[in-house]
Amino acid sequence: MLWPTAAPFAAAITFDMDADSLIHANDPDGWKRPYAISMGQYGPTVGVPRILETYRRLGMKQTFFIPGWCARTYPHAVEAILKGGHEIGCHGWIHENPSARTPAEQAEDLDRALEALAAFSGTRPRGYRAPVYLLTNDTPGLLSDRGFAYDSSMMADDQPYALDLGGRTLIEIPTHWGIDDWPPFAHFAEIGYMMPVRGPTEGLAPFFEEFEAARADGGLWHAVWHPFLTGRRARWQVVERWLETVLTSGAWFATLGEIADHAECLRRAGTLRTLPFPTYAERQT
Ligand SMILES: [Zn+2]
Repeated sequence: MLWPTAAPFAAAITFDMDADSLIHANDPDGWKRPYAISMGQYGPTVGVPRILETYRRLGMKQTFFIPGWCARTYPHAVEAILKGGHEIGCHGWIHENPSARTPAEQAEDLDRALEALAAFSGTRPRGYRAPVYLLTNDTPGLLSDRGFAYDSSMMADDQPYALDLGGRTLIEIPTHWGIDDWPPFAHFAEIGYMMPVRGPTEGLAPFFEEFEAARADGGLWHAVWHPFLTGRRARWQVVERWLETVLTSGAWFATLGEIADHAECLRRAGTLRTLPFPTYAERQT
């Protein structure tokens, strides 16, 4: 894939600032779970300031996906992210599961989140990542109706591609579970997520291998991290040391918005892969 300024490959760290939305969205008694709430609160109150300080020191601008409820609940974190010149994307209202919502409810969640996020910057987010990647057949249309430029919830390629929505397109910046920090670092029994927690170096090694793979094929490296997981002290120290070595690799470190804009230019030039939105008209048996 060709990148701006003849960069040999591209890279982006995205943080999903879920805070304690997960416990509220998944457990009706979540508001009575102080330990789980405190685990999530670590993200906006400790993880985000730590991450932003590293980005400031290294001169990086990156992307944070934030549920609207989290922005309303932790305004100082959002203000600090914007003050640092970073991009904010939409990550649902309260980390609700879109596939458990009707299209009308999904639209309501999106509008509520957009209103809360736009209140900080005056502009609506241009990017979306579905909570737990659980977008539905209705989600891309709802995003397109609201002027979103890109989604980052799908997994059909290593590189950005265009999603054909039947007359409309949406840029997709794909992800996969191997670039998400939940498997190595999350243990959240209250919402049924029980994985062995890896040590910082062991847990982060696969991300760095993915980076080398992107370097080798001139593609995009992209991480889906969470301030309450990779923003933890020992893990972030490993990331910081790694960043100090790879920022001179020639990679184009950019926000997902910048990458989506570049992908849109390629699409208009006819050089971006376009895929139909993956859906079936009926149940397959
Ligand atoms: Zn999330």
